[in-house]
Amino acid sequence: MGRIQLDHITKRFGDAVAVEDVTLDVEDSEFLVLVGPSGCGKSTTLRMIAGLETPTEGNLYIDGDHMNYRVPQNRDIAMVFQDYALYPHMTIRENVRFGLEEEEGYTPDEMDARVEEIAADLGIESLLDRKPGELSGGQQQRVALGRAIVRDPEVFLMDEPLANLDAKLRAQMRSELQNLQEDLDVTTVYVTHNQTEAMTMGDRIAVLNDGRLQQVGEPLELYHEPANQFVAGFIGEPMMNFLSGHRSEDGFAGDYLEYPFDERLEAAVGDVDDLVLGIRPEAIDVRRAEDATTQLGEHEFSMTVTVAETHGNQNVVHLTHADATDEHDVLQAVTDGMHVVEPGDSVVVTLDPDSIHIFDGTSGDALRNRRLETERELTQV
Ligand code: ATP
Repeated sequence: MGRIQLDHITKRFGDAVAVEDVTLDVEDSEFLVLVGPSGCGKSTTLRMIAGLETPTEGNLYIDGDHMNYRVPQNRDIAMVFQDYALYPHMTIRENVRFGLEEEEGYTPDEMDARVEEIAADLGIESLLDRKPGELSGGQQQRVALGRAIVRDPEVFLMDEPLANLDAKLRAQMRSELQNLQEDLDVTTVYVTHNQTEAMTMGDRIAVLNDGRLQQVGEPLELYHEPANQFVAGFIGEPMMNFLSGHRSEDGFAGDYLEYPFDERLEAAVGDVDDLVLGIRPEAIDVRRAEDATTQLGEHEFSMTVTVAETHGNQNVVHLTHADATDEHDVLQAVTDGMHVVEPGDSVVVTLDPDSIHIFDGTSGDALRNRRLETERELTQV
C-alpha cells in the first residue's frame, strides 16, 4: 500500500506561488519522477507529501487518508536528500540503526539483524564499523538510503539523491536504486532536474514548470507525444529543434525554412496561424551533397555544417542554410559516429513529415506529434 493523491494542491509563500493547482495520482508501488527546471516547485511538492510544508489549498491523501495536517512522523514515509545528513560521530551501523529507533516492536537484537540485512542488500556490510568521514560519496549515499529503507516505509521520497555523485557513480546508482525500488516494491516519488534520470528511472514522469503540472506519462509517451512545447524541449537530449513561423498557403513559412505540409499535417494544424515546427535531432536524415540527386524533394534542404561535435558513437551536427550569409544555426542533427562530418561540408537534410511535431506558437500546445505506429516501431528491436 502507498497510493499518493494530490488533489488540486496549491502552495503559496506570501504572494509567490510555488505550486499551482497540481492534481496527481501516484499508484501503489509506482516509481514516479518529478522533473522540471530549477524553481519549478518540485521540492515544495515533495515537502508537502512529506509533511514538511502544508498545502495552501487542495487536499493530500496517502492510502485514502487525509494528510494535510498530519505530522511527518505519522505518515509512514522515508526521505532521502541530496546531502546525506549522516551523523558524523556515529558509526555506519549506528546511523542505519537510527532509522529504526523510533519504530515500535523491534527488540535490540531484531534491530541489529535488520541493519545487517539492509547492509547486505546495499553492499555496505564491510563498512558498518566505520564513521561517515571514512566513506566515499557513493558509499555515504548508500548509507543514507539504508537509513531510509530500514524501516520498511509505505512511501519513499527522494530529492536529487544522486546530485553529489560523479557521472559514472551516478549512472551506477541509478540502476541500483531502480533495482532496489523494484525489490522493495515501495511507492517512490523521486525529484530531479535531470531529464536523463527521469527518462531512465521513472515508471511515469510528471513534468512541472512554473509550479504547474505540464504532463504526466510514461517516458516514451513524453518523448514521442509531448503535450506542449515545454515538455518537447525538456525531454530529449540534444533538445528538439524548434522553428518559429506562420501558416503559409501550402504549409509552414519560418524565418529560416519553408516547409510544405502533407494532408495529415494540414489537417492537424487547421487554421492556426502562429506555429512552431519541431523535429528531434535524431529524426533528421543528413547525407553528403555529392551523394544526393540534383533535384531536391519538397522536404529536403541544402545545408552547410557549421559545427560538428564528435562524441564517438554519434556526431551532433549544427547546420545552416547552404546560402546563409550569417552563421545562424537552423537545425541540429544527430548522425552516425562512423561517418566523418566537418565544418563547411555541404549536406542534404531530409525532414520527414512523419517525424514533424507542430505546436501552437501562442499557447505552446502540441497540434500534432510525430506519427508513431507505436506497436510496430517500439516492439521491433
Ligand atoms: P530546485 O531544483 O532549484 O531545487 P525546485 O523545483 O525544487 O527547484 P522549489 O524549491 O519547490 O523548486 O521552489 C519553488 C518556488 O518556491 C521557487 O520560486 C522558490 O523560490 C519558492 N520557495 C520555495 N520555498 C520557499 C520558502 N520557504 N519561502 C519562499 N519561497 C519559497
